Amino acid sequence: MPEAFIDLHAHSSVSDGTERPADLVRAAAVSGLDCVALTDHDTTAGWAEASDAARELPLTLVPGLELSTRTGWRSVHVLGYLVDPTDPALVAETDAIRDGRLTRARSMVDAIGRDHPITWDDVLAEASVGATIGRPHIADALVRLGLETDRSAAFGGILHPSSGYYEPHDAPTPLRGVELVRAAGGVPVIAHPAASSRGIVIDEPMLRELVDAGLGGLEVDHRENVAEGKRTLLEWAERYGLFVTGSSDYHGTGKPNRLGEHRTARRSFDTIVGQATGSVPVVGPGSRLS
Ligand code: AMP
Ligand code: FE
Ligand code: FE
Ligand code: ZN
Repeated sequence: MPEAFIDLHAHSSVSDGTERPADLVRAAAVSGLDCVALTDHDTTAGWAEASDAARELPLTLVPGLELSTRTGWRSVHVLGYLVDPTDPALVAETDAIRDGRLTRARSMVDAIGRDHPITWDDVLAEASVGATIGRPHIADALVRLGLETDRSAAFGGILHPSSGYYEPHDAPTPLRGVELVRAAGGVPVIAHPAASSRGIVIDEPMLRELVDAGLGGLEVDHRENVAEGKRTLLEWAERYGLFVTGSSDYHGTGKPNRLGEHRTARRSFDTIVGQATGSVPVVGPGSRLS
């Protein structure tokens, strides 16, 4: 049997993807994926809808989330697979992160609005109700208003950290993120750790701390990880006994990333499911992965 086709990182409109959770799961099945993970930023609100869709399709859904954490000015994304979505500490922290994102987005839009004709209502119009608000929604408003040509242009322009409008949002440390996911019965993986042009977002001493706190794996195959960084990540995985993943980080039409453009090996999937105690994958009828 050919190796299963597994993509463990995708976003829906519950955060900054452009498709409803059910449509994302359907798109994964149409793409021929055997398994997709729903990993919206700082929320598990899409799980129920995605699970209902997966129960009708020959595919396996891994419910997850992507926690926004920060160390200094460096943003570190911690994927959490198969957490208990009702875990009180995780719920409290994700609520706080989403609140902090709202405050920060309003403040950025106030600043942009002093120079360009954009209002907070323009941004809200681009997000579904209750969605985790981020720069992508501001980007979409800028595009709709004709101030930028597309999301990526907005990220390279008005929303770029060097534009003068950028602000970070309140976020826990990566260590706290890893601890929270593990304590909620989930499996933590650092997302796109070598995505920055400035090099890897974590250094080896920090990695050691995260490993001690229960880090499970590293997302090595991701379009934003640079080649040199990937080599280091593979060495670290070997040295610290971490599994590695590969994923698309699909955001619908919001980013060029295509479902399944990077894949995760069956072995890593089995490790994640084996370690998790917070929840279980949703195995649709006829799925090759259970
Ligand atoms: P924020 O967390 O609000 O600072 O926004 C960062 C988010 O925007 C990340 O989750 C990315 O997925 C998304 N993003 C970053 N760069 C781009 C881009 N060039 N085009 C579209 N989305 C992007
Ligand atoms: Fe995103
Ligand atoms: Fe991310
Ligand atoms: Zn992501």
